[in-house]
Amino acid sequence: MEKIKMTTPLVEMDGDEMTRVLWKIIKEELLLPFIDLKTEYYDLGLEYRNETNDQVTVDSAEATKKYGVAVKCATITPNAARMTEYHLKEMWKSPNGTIRALLDGTVFRAPIIVKGIEPCVKNWEKPITLARHAYGDIYKNTEIKVPGAGKAELVFTAADGTETREVIHEFKGAGILQGIHNTESSIESFAKACFNYALDIKQDLWFATKDTISKKYDHTFKDIFAEIFEKDYKEKFEKAGIEYFYTLIDDAVARVMKAKGGFIWACKNYDGDVMSDMVSSAFGSLAMMTSVLVSPQGVYEYEAAHGTVQRHYYKHLAGEETSTNSVATIFAWTGALRKRGELDGIKELTEFADRLERATLKTIEDGKMTKDLALITSLKDVTTLNSEAFIIEIRKTYETL
Ligand code: NAP
Ligand code: MG
Repeated sequence: MEKIKMTTPLVEMDGDEMTRVLWKIIKEELLLPFIDLKTEYYDLGLEYRNETNDQVTVDSAEATKKYGVAVKCATITPNAARMTEYHLKEMWKSPNGTIRALLDGTVFRAPIIVKGIEPCVKNWEKPITLARHAYGDIYKNTEIKVPGAGKAELVFTAADGTETREVIHEFKGAGILQGIHNTESSIESFAKACFNYALDIKQDLWFATKDTISKKYDHTFKDIFAEIFEKDYKEKFEKAGIEYFYTLIDDAVARVMKAKGGFIWACKNYDGDVMSDMVSSAFGSLAMMTSVLVSPQGVYEYEAAHGTVQRHYYKHLAGEETSTNSVATIFAWTGALRKRGELDGIKELTEFADRLERATLKTIEDGKMTKDLALITSLKDVTTLNSEAFIIEIRKTYETL
């Protein structure tokens, strides 16, 4: 059989620990036998990030801007323990944070649904994709612990020196204070990324804030979304047969619980942080969750939502058998290959991605899976496979489709 040819390279960002181990097996067993794989390789493993003073992360993000599609393996975000473990020169920042900042992107997370792993919410039949605004609000806050009585004011000093003041509170005793911000340009990017992504996957878009209480801050989010939608997306949405609707966050939460799924839920930074953990655990497992970063210019970076699975890696290093779920990492590859196929008009590549995803799901539905899924499945007669055997089993299924 002739291998599928590619025209534009994918930006390949290799990573750390157990996911780096899976990355190699996935390429060898599931990709290289079928595709003449063209990638521009960046090693984001912590050792090489340290060696290059993290320049490799910046370079990989720049390459993503250039080519338009990247696939990323999970990476270690260094903390104090990692400083000693890897003899780091500095506590390098989170690669995801660096890439997100350079691409000005919004992260979309969606569960991978498979028969036998049922969501806790019975009526969720289709995936709910969560879009989280990844800039500002309490994640870039300034806080004061107020020691005692006094007046707190909000002061804005314009470039020309003029001041605008609002009294926050006249404290009679001790208390707390918090200052948060966001920017119009970041909210606009967020809105555009959400509208583009909804058109891309042809699903309705929901957005919710607390604008009834926060009449300027949250209301600005609502207004910016509405303006951009009216101006640039309304007709495109009508043509695609999808809908944008805005509601209050409380109403959204209630509706989500009663919904069937199959839509995108856009959230402000904090809501997105909290709600994505709720949605992902209710759908079953972090190992069955994909994540894609989309820039307002339509650049895509695909990855798994989970981390490097450190505990399994140490077992692997000790020569013990592991049963690490590779589904989200496989879907990061298929997402990227499908997008590359669409952009370059290579039908074989998009068909390959579809077929590999079907093979992955069928393998699980046939009762062959890793331990994390075996523990929660409703299927009977399940075979628990080790990390490598599961991937090999997917290849066998692929060849029967
Ligand atoms: P993690 O890698 O997501 O793993 C946490 C636990 O979840 C694992 O110990 C395992 O549970 C389970 N798990 C996660 N993915 C799994 C999979 N594919 N198959 C089976 N079980 C899975 O989080 P972590 O251990 O807290 O973080 C490890 C490293 O990942 C950290 O250095 C962190 O900085 C990094 N991280 C990177 C990203 C990213 O690059 N996107 C995201 C998050 C974290 P059991 O041990 O019970 O089997
Ligand atoms: Mg969280």
